[in-house]
Parts: sequence; structure tokens; C-alpha cells
Amino acid sequence: MLQPSLLRSLPEIPSPVLTVYLGTDRAESDNRKLTPGYMTWLRSQASALAGTVAPKEKKLFLEQLARVEEHLRAHRPRERGFVIFAGPNTWEMVSLQLKVRNEVSWGRPALSQLLWLMDEHRACAIVVVIRKGARFYLYWLGELVELEEKEFGGDISEWKKKDLGKFERTGTRTLPGIHKPRGSQHDVFDHRMDAQYQHFYREIAEGIQLHWPDKESQRAVFLVGLEHMANGVLEELPVAFRERVVPVREDLGWGWISRAQLQKRMEPKIEEWERKREIALVDALLGSERGAVLGIDESLVRLQQGTARSLVVENDLESGLHRCEKCGWLDRVAGPPCTVCGGKRQAASLREELPELARRFRTSIEIVAGEAARKLHEAGGMGAWLRQIEILPVPQETDRGAVLRE
Ligand SMILES: [Zn+2]
Repeated sequence: MLQPSLLRSLPEIPSPVLTVYLGTDRAESDNRKLTPGYMTWLRSQASALAGTVAPKEKKLFLEQLARVEEHLRAHRPRERGFVIFAGPNTWEMVSLQLKVRNEVSWGRPALSQLLWLMDEHRACAIVVVIRKGARFYLYWLGELVELEEKEFGGDISEWKKKDLGKFERTGTRTLPGIHKPRGSQHDVFDHRMDAQYQHFYREIAEGIQLHWPDKESQRAVFLVGLEHMANGVLEELPVAFRERVVPVREDLGWGWISRAQLQKRMEPKIEEWERKREIALVDALLGSERGAVLGIDESLVRLQQGTARSLVVENDLESGLHRCEKCGWLDRVAGPPCTVCGGKRQAASLREELPELARRFRTSIEIVAGEAARKLHEAGGMGAWLRQIEILPVPQETDRGAVLRE
């Protein structure tokens, strides 16, 4: 999994560096060939790129390319894609369990696609609660990582017996030799277990807040378990935090399921939740009469003016842009010169510029897929929520009626 420390260090990689993104998914028949499709692609693109490299860097470029090719021959990738940054003193490889677009470049580390993927696939948390404990997972960029396990501190053996006793009572199962507490002894037992479980739920709730305190970077916490257990944890969370929790009611019984099984079970649920959230987001944007703008041009202007609070972007959106060499202004206005400073401009691409541009202006990006992307596409593929709703002039006594009618 991509480590935050590595992510922070990537922009510091000294130039020039060879950046190679490759989609290596073996589900694609081309990639199962003796010479996989991505290798063929890399060779042809790299030889075209070599023609554009400055003569004094050519040797360095060819060395790094040979290094990458050698690595790919020696370790045939098993992940769906990856990115490598290779330079004289640099070797960083990030595996990605996601669809990756092939891309090769020389010069500054090319981070745009990685940032784009991060904006498209925000991390979410999964907490599994079963009778004997809880496990905390982070799901990010197609990978599931276990962070912590908390054991239930109560006396499970007694609890188990009681639970099995229930079967006895209902007559669905006969379990000889199991002692079943009765009468007042039973009530005391219930009380004690309730208190122990409440303590356990509180611990889980504290764990959730400790692991995922940051609302911006963590999208949601999926709480998987029996309904009464999930509710027990929910009740121990602050009200404001509960909005981020998505209960997934499932009886996983007494035992843990494997990480792979959990991922397989949770992925469609996360996907479904995400698609619904995105549709709601796009509907709100499209339905907004104020405080938002639509379309690439207007959104880019607002972003560079620093007035866009967050962007909503269709996942496959592509557009050619022009970037001013002097002031850096980006737009789609045809031909030179720059509309802001009159400077000379060069061709740029929206996909490459947007992730870094948004970070520079501290604007969050929501990249939407599926039905939400289709809806947004019809409205220009992109929109922005503005930082401040325009302040209305202070109403005068005489025109208060007009303001109220608004
Ligand atoms: Zn300019």
C-alpha cells in the first residue's frame, strides 16, 4: 500500500527522472502474452520519447529505461498496475490494484496520474465486529490492510454457553452438558455481559476515532457486524461522527473471515455506496442555483482565482489546455497570447494539470464515475462549489419584501 511518507517524498525526487505508469492487469489477454502488451507499449513509446531527450541526458535516460525493463523481465508484475520513478539515485515503485493508464515521461516526477487515482479512490475504513473482538482495516487504492485487532475482554466462554442455551430453549438444537444459567442468576449474568459489551463498544468507538480522526481524507467507516453490535458501537460515537458510519449488517458468527474474503464481500458494497453518494453530489451541484459553477472554463477560472472550495470532475474527463509560460494561467482560450498577462503559452492537458493545481489552491476534488459521471458529462464534465455564497446587500426597510421573496 502507498505509504503517506512515500507520497510526501515523491515531489522531492530530483530531476531528471524516468516515470513509468503501466497497466499490467492479467485479465487483459494482451498482458498474458510471452511479451506482455505493456512491455511492447513501453518499448515503442520509450523509443519515441528518447528522440525528445536532450543529448546530454540521453545516456542517463537509456540507463534508467534499461533498469525498468530489466526489473519487469525479472519480476513479472502480479498487480493490476504500478508506477516506477527511476533516476540515478532513485528507485521508487508503487503497486496499484487499480486500472492504470500507460504513461512514460522524462524530467520531473510525473505525479498527476497518481494524484488523480487518489482523488478518485479515497480511502475508507472497515471495522468488523464479531462476538470475540473487532478488527480495524484501511481500504485504499484497491488494497485492504489490517491495522489493529481488539479482543473482547469479557468472559466469552460463559457467553457462548448462554448463547447456545438459547438454541436449547427454542428446541432447534440439543446440546447436552451445557450449563445454562437460570432465574436471578441468569439476570445477573445478563447484566454483567451487557456492561462488558458496552465497555467493548466504547473501546471500538474510541479506536475508530483514533484511527480516523480526519474527516477530509477518510470518506466513510463501514461498520460490519450483527445489528445490535453495530448499534452498540454507533451509540458510543459522537453524533457528528455517526454521519460517516455506514452500518453493514452481517452475522459473521464467531470466527474471523480472511482479508481476501472480506475484501471480496465489501468491494461491491463500497462501490454501491460510493456510486449513490456521487449521484447525490452531482444532483446537488446541478440543482444548485447559487454557490456553484458548471463547465471546464468557468470551473478553471474560479479554481485559479482561489474561489473554488471543491471540484467535481467526471472520471474520464480530458481536455486540451494552454498554460502561460509567464504567469502559469491555464485555460482553453485558443491561440496566443495569455488572456491574463499577454505571455507566451504552451499546450497542456487538463488531466495532467488539475490534480496539482487543485492542491496548490487547497481545493478538494471529487472524481465521479458511472451514472454520476454521465450526468456531469452532459453539464460539461466538471463543476465547482464556490468558497463563499455571494453576500446579499443589507436589506433596506423598503425592499425587505423583495429579499424575503428570494
Ligand atoms: Zn500569463
